[in-house]
Amino acid sequence: MPSEFDLIRRHFTRPARHTALSVGDDAALLAPRAGMQLAVSTDMLVAGTHFFPDAEPEALGWKTLAVNISDLAAMGAEPRWAVLALSLPVADEAWIAAFARGFFACADAFGVDLAGGDTTRGPLNLCVTILGEVPAGAAITRGGARTGDDLWITGTPGHAALGLAHLRGEIALPPTAAQSCLASLHRPQPRVAFGQALRGVASAMLDVSDGLLGDLGHILESSGCGARIDVAALPLAALHACGADEALSRRCLLSGGDDYELLFTAPPSQREHLAALALGHGLPLSRIGTITATAGELVLHETDGREHTTAHAGYDHFA
Ligand code: ADP
Ligand code: MG
Repeated sequence: MPSEFDLIRRHFTRPARHTALSVGDDAALLAPRAGMQLAVSTDMLVAGTHFFPDAEPEALGWKTLAVNISDLAAMGAEPRWAVLALSLPVADEAWIAAFARGFFACADAFGVDLAGGDTTRGPLNLCVTILGEVPAGAAITRGGARTGDDLWITGTPGHAALGLAHLRGEIALPPTAAQSCLASLHRPQPRVAFGQALRGVASAMLDVSDGLLGDLGHILESSGCGARIDVAALPLAALHACGADEALSRRCLLSGGDDYELLFTAPPSQREHLAALALGHGLPLSRIGTITATAGELVLHETDGREHTTAHAGYDHFA
């Protein structure tokens, strides 16, 4: 049976790139660069709540870090350090090695040092604290949306939810569609570079983890405004192309979580600049609506011109 210290040394100790003192001491030492603010966020993934207990460990390692990195992307921050608290029922070395492989693949892809953590025995529970830097005053919060701003979403949201519907047997996707939807579900790609490019451009932003409508509600609440979504502008075609019908495509796009795309607002004067940015980053970008003055009101403008208000409640663990 490997000791806790063997496990940490073997699986979670890697040369640090930009950490003054990393794994192995009582605390890590981080040296933020001059003029930067630290952006800090924690996300916990609990077996049975956020993932299936028998989930493939390498993908789980990737996703555990990726969802945290996405929170910094959503602030326009640059992720730099992570701290990993693990609670494991058994010291299954093959499982831990695969988890660490996925975790470090994501860390390497986004320039993150694992600076420390904690390893204990208990129900399977994975908790990451991510730290990053953003030039002082440049972070993009949820509270800056203004009436008349455009509403934008990156990528092709809904694929992760469609992958989950496939796993649950609600739809049988053709093999290539299944592969790409399951990749969105298991290996989300946080929009780090694009998030930073939106500094000084986006007025409000968040990453969509609990569904587009629910997360939009957070922007509306923080900014004290409303929104009108133009259904014709939603990127539904990519979901139709996977074989999902209109109702399922719409549900996955508007209410499905787990895509970690960026939902943001920007004044109309930024349209051309945003189109060029999206092209430069090779990232699909859709202008899906407008910010309105009526606080908390979310209106759907249907393709036939009808309009109706809709709820913007997202997933709530305690509801
Ligand atoms: P202490 O007893 O002083 O709290 P620990 O035994 O918990 O120290 O951890 C020893 C070192 O290993 C610390 O530097 C801690 O940050 C690091 N560490 C523990 N678990 C992990 C982990 N899962 N990933 C990365 N670093 C870890
Ligand atoms: Mg400790």
